[in-house]
Amino acid sequence: MIACAVENNVPPARPEATPRTGITWMRVYQISNGAPFPENRAAFIPILCQQCGKDTPCAAVCPQEAVEVDPATGIVDQMPQRCLGCRYCMAACPYHARYFNWWDPQWPPGMEKTLNPDVATRMRGVVEKCNFCHGRLHAARARAAAEGRRELHPGEYVPACVEACPAAAIVFGDLDDPASEVARLARDGQSFRILERLGTAPKIYYRTTRPWVRSGATNPCGAGNFARGPLRGRLSGGPSGSGQKEPAHA
Ligand code: SF4
Repeated sequence: MIACAVENNVPPARPEATPRTGITWMRVYQISNGAPFPENRAAFIPILCQQCGKDTPCAAVCPQEAVEVDPATGIVDQMPQRCLGCRYCMAACPYHARYFNWWDPQWPPGMEKTLNPDVATRMRGVVEKCNFCHGRLHAARARAAAEGRRELHPGEYVPACVEACPAAAIVFGDLDDPASEVARLARDGQSFRILERLGTAPKIYYRTTRPWVRSGATNPCGAGNFARGPLRGRLSGGPSGSGQKEPAHA
């Protein structure tokens, strides 16, 4: 989450911000199996834009065409310059992965020196969300072009969360390449997608060997519990609000 915020110039929460009005492109939910001690187990599930590949809900409702699915990468792009702040996309997103800028971004004195010069800050009145670190993609493409290449090598571009995760729990790659590691992982029996039944073809896959984690993610009760909350929230319903996950991405 910190790597994401630093990479993408996501400002720290204002003192007046609430759990509903703060911005973080990635939230981490804690869920448990609901069992009493010592059998109690917890899992942590990062929720970010799932890059819906079919009938993308946020894109479908945007009156400004400020949301676009890039046909080359499948990344759902948000264009703040076009956004008029109606927030239809926030209502449409089943994952609550979009955030509205209630204030102009501000950093504590001195911290503005840490801003990423490759990523524009967003102004008050527009919506933003995870874009798989688009600035990194552009930089990788520029490097490739300088070497006379049109295609990127596998691993040449990865989002900041992938690079920062000390457990290498996030895998990033080309799902359309059946030989890629991420495509192989997505195909195996341990992978699933959250709210897959909605039919929006999310490109984020999660992996687990624990049935309670998977059932928590796919339980209809879970959808409602994606409601905004503190960075630690709960997904899904088990006896005590149970749940979920470890990552694996695409
Ligand atoms: S997860 Fe939400 S913001 Fe991301 S593509 Fe799907 S509908 Fe849009």
